[in-house]
Amino acid sequence: MVGKYEACRGGNPDLSKAPNQEMASKGDWSTIKRHLQQLLGQKVVSNWFSEVSIASASGGVATLLVTSKFNGEYIQANFAEEIVASCRHAGLKVYGTDFRVTSRNRTQASRQSRPSGQNQASPTQLLKGLRLNKRYSFDSFVVGTENGHAYDAARRIGQGNLFGVGSLYIYGSVGLGKTHLLNAICWMRKSSSPDLTVKLLSGDLFMDRYVRAVTGKRLLEFRELVRSVDVLAIDDIQFFEGRRGTTEEFEMTFSALSNEQKTVVLTGQKPVVSMNGLNVRLRSRLQQGLTVGLKPPGLDLRLRILQRKIEDWRHEYPDLEISPEVLEYVAKTFTGDVRLLEGALQRLLATAGFLRSKKITPDLVEHVLTDLAPSAMAEPNIDDIVKAVSEHFGVSAKDLKGQTRIRNIARARQIAIYLAKNLTTKSLPHIGSTFSRDRTTILYSVKRVRKLQKTDQAAARDLRLLESKLRYPTGA
Ligand code: ADP
Ligand code: MG
Repeated sequence: MVGKYEACRGGNPDLSKAPNQEMASKGDWSTIKRHLQQLLGQKVVSNWFSEVSIASASGGVATLLVTSKFNGEYIQANFAEEIVASCRHAGLKVYGTDFRVTSRNRTQASRQSRPSGQNQASPTQLLKGLRLNKRYSFDSFVVGTENGHAYDAARRIGQGNLFGVGSLYIYGSVGLGKTHLLNAICWMRKSSSPDLTVKLLSGDLFMDRYVRAVTGKRLLEFRELVRSVDVLAIDDIQFFEGRRGTTEEFEMTFSALSNEQKTVVLTGQKPVVSMNGLNVRLRSRLQQGLTVGLKPPGLDLRLRILQRKIEDWRHEYPDLEISPEVLEYVAKTFTGDVRLLEGALQRLLATAGFLRSKKITPDLVEHVLTDLAPSAMAEPNIDDIVKAVSEHFGVSAKDLKGQTRIRNIARARQIAIYLAKNLTTKSLPHIGSTFSRDRTTILYSVKRVRKLQKTDQAAARDLRLLESKLRYPTGA
């Protein structure tokens, strides 16, 4: 699954000529759907894809238009591989999927999904979970100090070692590997003991199943089913926050499973103490189990992840050369979130593929990175600018704001001032006070950098990169 970024269009004239990069047509969608029917069967396609269409297939990503977030997430979690295969069958160079919710036909869709007396869910559908994603294994997870504790704990739970507590809660912000580890645990348990019932659901899917059971007057049946599983894995329990009924039901389930020495594995975006929207009993139950956090990967881990992903995808691009400098460039630009890092690399490889280039050049990297732009452009604050410039040039923030005239520091300072003037709406006195400089010095710096941009290619590239990173922040 790729990140939720919008594949974008236009910009570089060379790229816009690349084949299959523009909008996917209605005709494409019919071909894709026909192929999906062969892979998934007509019933699945009419259940899940009748309200779906394709918006675009650019940058290696097929963006589907769906009628609800739930529908999109479900399709993404369960049918991403088949969608990619079908897009490729239709001649679109696609490596991942994304979705966008459209309001069109929403009422019609919700009317269709309303349970009717004749069309009751079968017992298995009552607690239908997500299909495990084989790609998310312990082997494919790159370990560093940032995620080492979580990895160790997950692996031990995967091996059936319950530490006498029975439950594990993995928390961390978006894109740090929670879903990956959760799937890896489920796989390991299932493959070492195939008879175990292992259920993986997302928090909102659990809620959906529970609400359907209540409205369909099948709560007892639902409870029996949940309590009969051996391993219950629920991804993103922050969805439970503020949902009283679901939280209470889940807490009861959790308690019943724990009493029977069964395994409960959960993920969420926040540490337990910050989950104010959960009831006290559930929070204390979570705290009785093992809880581990995931931290954003540092540069070294980001580089190792990129290297690993390239190895994993090598067969798709056997002749492609990527220099260590390019990898470093990507690792330095996409900080914070592995999903975005992975998405950037995926797009880079896909774009090189379109252009049939054998080498990923810095120019191509720069284009793809600049192109990876969320629709809303943020105004960075001056601290963000100081931080980005200091990281980029390896100069401390203190020096950037200080008085030293050492050449590389003074140059970095001028660039920071230039960016502050150009990317923010802050006044000259405000910028001046941040850098302890008067108005004339600020204006002089801006002028110098403007000139430098015309005469020094490397400086121009540094600036474009910093600008794109600050305008389109990628962190969670
Ligand atoms: P989360 O659930 O925390 O939002 P995911 O588990 O979906 O994040 O991870 C996002 C993407 O990044 C996935 O494709 C996952 O495989 C990848 N990923 C995250 N951490 C790692 C890691 N340490 N090694 C390899 N891939 C990783
Ligand atoms: Mg996740």
